[in-house]
Amino acid sequence: MTATLIDGKARAAALRAEVATGVAAFTAQHGRAPGLTVVLVGDDPASAVYVGSKGKATREAGMISGEHRLPASTSEAELLALVASLNADPAVDGILVQMPLPKHINSDRVIAAIDPAKDVDGLHPINTGLLVSGRKGLVPCTPSGCMMLIREAMGDISGAEAVVIGRSILVGKPMAALLTNASATVILAHSRTRDLAAHVARADIVVAAVGIPGMVKGDWIKPGACVIDVGINRIDAGGGKGRLVGDVDFDGAVTRAGWITPVPGGVGPMTIACLLANTLAAAHARAGG
Ligand code: NAD
Repeated sequence: MTATLIDGKARAAALRAEVATGVAAFTAQHGRAPGLTVVLVGDDPASAVYVGSKGKATREAGMISGEHRLPASTSEAELLALVASLNADPAVDGILVQMPLPKHINSDRVIAAIDPAKDVDGLHPINTGLLVSGRKGLVPCTPSGCMMLIREAMGDISGAEAVVIGRSILVGKPMAALLTNASATVILAHSRTRDLAAHVARADIVVAAVGIPGMVKGDWIKPGACVIDVGINRIDAGGGKGRLVGDVDFDGAVTRAGWITPVPGGVGPMTIACLLANTLAAAHARAGG
């Protein structure tokens, strides 16, 4: 058996088109386009690339893209002052402070300073609390994208067994909450989990968000399972070339799984599409819709 490949690129393109249509309607109704502002502190090259592509996608969706690129020497007080001014700016619907921040800045304090109604990364404690309570709020983009892919592949997942590997606040924990809210039975596995293979072998849904190339072995996968690989790992492909691989041994898993996301082209493209969707949702909520 060979798994059906989940085409995250195509799903993300469809979501971005849906958002663009929604943005046009919002703009016609309210006389202004939704606005997303991204703040980057320091000069981490990978973060600079992410911020650039977020800006481009925001403009392509018809939204107003704001960008603040601050030097690595920026103090926490200066960053908090910028966040306060963005909170107060009625043209800004979404605020995203690119992580990681330089070590001298307390990222928890910065995230907590963002207006929860503009927290399109879904990391503010109010939004994480709403998610765990099963109430409406802004949901972190990557797990939100994973959930769309799972639902599209499997439909109703009520009663399904799910294993989420990795307990980060950005991916693993919110993913476990989303699956729980969808009535799956969830195991949240992490670096201290005993016998991960046995947990994975029972799972109808496996979400891997660890950051270790190929750590989930193909022969662990239950035949027919839905495998969502969040990992993005660059490995040396020889000749100075890098190659992106996920956390799942793709070649082994593809022969057993029912559905599987490739890396790249699976979860990755969904993240920015969900960021745009969150910004539009935040704009509607702020406009009272
Ligand atoms: P993280 O480093 O914050 O968390 C990793 C988690 O893996 C931890 O909770 C840890 O307990 C767990 N872990 C470590 N070793 C383990 C082991 N041997 N067995 C089981 N669990 C183990 O990482 P993160 O931010 O959640 O990201 C995880 C991966 O997902 C990375 O490769 C990252 O690049 C990728 N990522 C992709 C996207 C996307 O858009 N596709 C978004 C965010 C993160």
